[in-house]
Amino acid sequence: MFNLNELIRKNIAELRPYSSARNEYAGSQGIFMDANENALGSPSDQPLNRYPDPHQRQLKKRISELLKIPAPQIFLGNGSDEVIDLLIRAFCEPNQDKLIILPPTYGMYTVAANINAAKIIRVPLTHDFQIDTPAVLEKLALKPKLLFLCSPNNPTGNCFQEKDIKKLLANFEGLVVIDEAYVDFCARQNYLSWLKQYKNLVIIRTFSKAWGMASIRLGMAFASADIIDILTQLKYPYNVNAITQEAALRALDNIDQQKKMIKQLLSERDKLSQALSRLEIVEKVFPSDANFLLVRFHDARKVYQAMLQRKIILRDRSQLIHCDNCLRITVGTPRENQLLLEALLSYTKQGK
Ligand SMILES: *Cc1c(COP(=O)(O)O)cnc(C)c1O
Repeated sequence: MFNLNELIRKNIAELRPYSSARNEYAGSQGIFMDANENALGSPSDQPLNRYPDPHQRQLKKRISELLKIPAPQIFLGNGSDEVIDLLIRAFCEPNQDKLIILPPTYGMYTVAANINAAKIIRVPLTHDFQIDTPAVLEKLALKPKLLFLCSPNNPTGNCFQEKDIKKLLANFEGLVVIDEAYVDFCARQNYLSWLKQYKNLVIIRTFSKAWGMASIRLGMAFASADIIDILTQLKYPYNVNAITQEAALRALDNIDQQKKMIKQLLSERDKLSQALSRLEIVEKVFPSDANFLLVRFHDARKVYQAMLQRKIILRDRSQLIHCDNCLRITVGTPRENQLLLEALLSYTKQGK
């Protein structure tokens, strides 16, 4: 039923990618006179004069070992945002093809779809923030190319039900993209092991959240080698720079530290959640499987402004469907969380 050749845009299938200077020679030793780099070096204190490995071999090897996914099934991008953009670019013919998103969800799916002139089919989540599976199944008749699922979902913080995701994977002829940006904060779920079974599955992850490396801009995609090949053909040759590759390699050698941070963030999240739910101005703190909380206030706009005046910046999500009067609050350091609670308490007392 699923046929990648029918799914891909014709011009992309016929594409002959730019062959970068280092494509033919994989060695690191040699006299490199092929790429017009500055052979003398750079004014920086780091050796940055050479182009980076366009295939990120070392980094993919480490990620492959860590996650037990073969390297040909891994794509690395300039943040997950690049992955999202490339997926749409590869499969959605502008002004013609469609994709499905499930609002309220991550805003970049819409932005990337708009940039690529892909038509957006919106199937809102149910009131308890789960997939409205019958409604999505109904939309499959419109032959969308992609379906974006974010689990745990931003901004609602919850995981979708496994049985719903399974049903969609089994019934969809396009690609199901599961964005697992927050998966490290959710012990119960991750869908990497499903790649063997479902050829139409793409999983996106990022170094920006649990890995604490938002500034290096590194995103990952996992899928069949055929899908990964398509993304690789499409990307800019040097989409992941050398500084990023090196920083990621160093971080991957320090997994204990990452695990420790995740544990601490989860314990801080649960403390913050309990403290927030005791505040008068809070109507509801939604359960979270991520490193943030979605919180419904009686008057979100006022709270948002009052915090902003105190230089505490929250994310106002109150305009999104099912999120009226909701702010999204990222878990901070213990001290930052304490300061937020004190600020909210003083606001509660003063009313401003
Ligand atoms: C933060 C976030 C990302 C991360 O994007 P990067 O470009 O990798 O920083 C991806 N997806 C979701 C849902 C997010 O919330």
